[in-house]
Amino acid sequence: KGYCCFEGQISDCQCKYESVEEMNKELTPVLKDLVLTTYFRYYKVDLWKECPFWPDAELLCTSERCSVPSVDISKIPDEWKAENLSKVEKSSIFGESSMFHNCDYSSNEFCIFDEESGGLRYVDLPTNPERFTGYQGDSATRVWNSIYNENCFGIPNHLGDNKDTCLEKRVYYKLISGLHASISTNVCYYWLDMKTGVWGPNIDCFIWKIGKFPDRIENIYLNFAIYIRAINKISDYLNNYKYCNGNDEEDEKVSTLIKKVTDVSKDYPFTFDETKFFNSPETKDLLSDTKFQFRNVTRIMDCVACEKCRLWGKLQITGLGTALKILFSTDDVSSLSLKRSEIVAFINGFNKLSTSINMIDEFRNLWKKRDAEK
Ligand code: FAD
Repeated sequence: KGYCCFEGQISDCQCKYESVEEMNKELTPVLKDLVLTTYFRYYKVDLWKECPFWPDAELLCTSERCSVPSVDISKIPDEWKAENLSKVEKSSIFGESSMFHNCDYSSNEFCIFDEESGGLRYVDLPTNPERFTGYQGDSATRVWNSIYNENCFGIPNHLGDNKDTCLEKRVYYKLISGLHASISTNVCYYWLDMKTGVWGPNIDCFIWKIGKFPDRIENIYLNFAIYIRAINKISDYLNNYKYCNGNDEEDEKVSTLIKKVTDVSKDYPFTFDETKFFNSPETKDLLSDTKFQFRNVTRIMDCVACEKCRLWGKLQITGLGTALKILFSTDDVSSLSLKRSEIVAFINGFNKLSTSINMIDEFRNLWKKRDAEK
């Protein structure tokens, strides 16, 4: 049963379910506050980019449930606007073009970033939460299939726990599956009953998409363990970062909250040992393939035909890509450079996992209660 037996070691990492849950209890209120601050709530993103893989993938779901309004520019701190202008000048001096970014096989990044263009705008994350939009059917299936079958080392979505697959490919698959499970958890929790028009958790949705698949739940926990290790690795960097909110009081608040997050990451034993990855002669070359596949997944998110789903898909894949960049791009943290969009996606992506774990707990209790009443 999906509501029992989540204890002990999480496979492929150094962490137990119980530790994730304890950490999450401490972090939940902190992250909840953090994602409401000016710095973390406004995300700059292009949601109108063309799908680079199939031409007929325009936004299909355009109802109120799916659309994402732009933020009134007066809410954006002036410092961010100045920062953007200097970036435009810099990129035109070096003549960067989108073709260059999209086709670059040797890039060291895990993600492809949106560039300064007409479509790039600020959106407000807390007022556009990830939830049921009605996006499903061929378009959604095509996106998930393309991610698993073409960009997951050919590991189909029902074979991810295959022990014959090498550690790196297996964990890569699990991260994607955990992201998928986290999205499904939100969809089932913030569910709209189309008949009654009432929003609320849908236990059957949870059981059929997540509850009956303990490995999918485990993959969410694994994602959490990896994020915590990434936070732990760059805790000094995060504590010294300038979080400009446009007012001193909020700057102070963000610094205090970030300090609490990094303190929790230090209070527990290491959750994940990244040094075990990509270090044998057979797997050394796998890192660039992994980055290439991951960059492709970031591009596939532009094929999601529902604006709100695209927003959260892009944000969460960028957050995960940032965690992987922190763990696998360099041993020397002082050489690391993260853009505002990466930090915002990283913290919001982590908050999504944190809330999904809490939702799973609620769903398990609801499920248990329903079975007891039968
Ligand atoms: P899907 O979730 O579409 O899954 C397809 C197949 O993948 C399943 O049949 C199963 O075999 C396999 N599978 C499912 N889960 C996992 C897993 N965790 N690990 C491994 N394999 C798995 N809908 C919304 O209402 N709101 C959103 O915000 C939203 N965001 C989305 C973001 C993205 C990037 C995408 C691609 C889709 C999004 N959707 C969203 C649609 C949603 O994810 C589902 O596709 C839709 O609800 C239909 O679900 P389904 O039950 O048919 O299976």
